[in-house]
Amino acid sequence: MENPLTPEVLADPVALTRALVDIESVSLNEKAIADCVEQVLRAVPHLTTYRHGNTVMARTDLGRGSRVVLAGHLDTVPLNNNFPSTMRGDLMYGCGTSDMKSGVAFALHLATTLPDPRYDVTYFFYEAEEIESRYNGLSLVAEAHPQWLEADFAVLLEPTYGVVEAGCQGTMRATVVTTGIRAHSARSWHGVNAVHAATEVLRRLSEYQARRVTIDGCEYREGMNAVRIHGGVAGNVVPDRCEIEVNYRFAPDRTPAEAEAHLREVLAGYELLVTDCAPGALPGLEAPAAREFLAAVGAAPIGKLGWTDVARFAALGIPALNFGPGDPNLAHHPDEHVEIGKIRDGAATLHRWLAAA
Ligand SMILES: [Zn+2]
Repeated sequence: MENPLTPEVLADPVALTRALVDIESVSLNEKAIADCVEQVLRAVPHLTTYRHGNTVMARTDLGRGSRVVLAGHLDTVPLNNNFPSTMRGDLMYGCGTSDMKSGVAFALHLATTLPDPRYDVTYFFYEAEEIESRYNGLSLVAEAHPQWLEADFAVLLEPTYGVVEAGCQGTMRATVVTTGIRAHSARSWHGVNAVHAATEVLRRLSEYQARRVTIDGCEYREGMNAVRIHGGVAGNVVPDRCEIEVNYRFAPDRTPAEAEAHLREVLAGYELLVTDCAPGALPGLEAPAAREFLAAVGAAPIGKLGWTDVARFAALGIPALNFGPGDPNLAHHPDEHVEIGKIRDGAATLHRWLAAA
């Protein structure tokens, strides 16, 4: 395949977004796009380029006092009659326009056009963000080549509609079990109904007053919800077991252990099994590079409510935030699109931040 990422395309973040969208890269099919990106980066004299699987990393080594990461995932969710891209006025439609090839375009544009950034920069283009964690290029590299990720600060170019979304909330899933005694429903007084016993669990959850926490000026809003319920044996049996799956989204000032303790406190008296947990990430806006980034953006950051890969950087001790041109509400949506103005503004912001003073 002829590489569509020509010098003219790389020089224009809008054309570059479109070219990247038009290389199909549904998760686990990132080889073609990774090949194109790698080829372009290897030709740049001020970068050293590495590859692991379909994850490509390129770095400057200018001896600057600090190093920042610009990171974006190359994969998209499955196509939905939205490939290749189309233009309608100032909007570019297509799979990955918002999540997140417009963000990837920022990193690739800067990597190839900015030879003397004010920090050393690691540009990171990774595979398989949209699927199970075991495929995630960022976590594979963190295991295989942790030194590739050494940095003082990271910007993930996920869709935030041009604002800074800092940190992220943690998420915990747990199963609460209510038990009873099985009986024929024609003589139900011989049994104890476990589904009815779930009422009290659901009452506590529906009356639960979730915390709002402000950290570094960012508000995080917690939530604790029943997300699935399962119980029952047959149409004529009083059920002896009911399972309620609970998802607790917790602010990043709580560790997973503290979140679990709180969940157990709310649901005291019930059998509870934690099945899954991902810690949150504090906003980390105190790092000098983060302060300078916020100054370049010129608008107040907000707290990230969903879980994102910033938490993987936080786990490595690297403060990280999200900043990208796409609208997060359109990610994974069949009408996914990005505003051309947001691409131009965001690219200008990053350039202002990284260009030598
Ligand atoms: Zn994404």
